Amino acid sequence: MRRRVAAAAKPNPAHIALAKLEQSLGDRLFLCTQNVDDLHEQAESKRIVHMHGELFKSRCDTCSRPPFSDTSTHDPPAEHPRCECGGGIRPHICWFGEVPFELDRIFRALDECTVFMAVGTSGVVEPAASFVAHVAGHARTIYVGEEQPANASAFTECHLGKAGEVLPRLFDV
Ligand SMILES: [Zn+2]
Repeated sequence: MRRRVAAAAKPNPAHIALAKLEQSLGDRLFLCTQNVDDLHEQAESKRIVHMHGELFKSRCDTCSRPPFSDTSTHDPPAEHPRCECGGGIRPHICWFGEVPFELDRIFRALDECTVFMAVGTSGVVEPAASFVAHVAGHARTIYVGEEQPANASAFTECHLGKAGEVLPRLFDV
């Protein structure tokens, strides 16, 4: 169901503004998302870290076969798909209670950043909700989203509004 819904979604102006920002900043932009859809890819961002994984990839729950592209919706409900090794095939996403992906890389980027921006997140889901506190001593911290996040007091700037309207203005793209 999630794959069917995500397959019909299109990038919004915020995704496009972030892709344009990458075009001017190159690898000085570190784009980390909690989203599992591929809208950043569709907007042509090139370097994206999906800390909660990718909905359109699957992996085996048993062997070390790397995650692979998978758009199948198993519709109507089929038997649990199986790997050649006999293991179960599961979505390459981080379920509740599992450790997010690429945390080492993410914390290196947090340690090095000079400007930290959180976009459209509730500020509740850990560990992402604590990223702003991690960088507070060395980076300018900016929040963009429609509602005050739970961790609003940790940011030096809050820009409330639709990300698709605020980001193009902030980035001047
Ligand atoms: Zn396997």
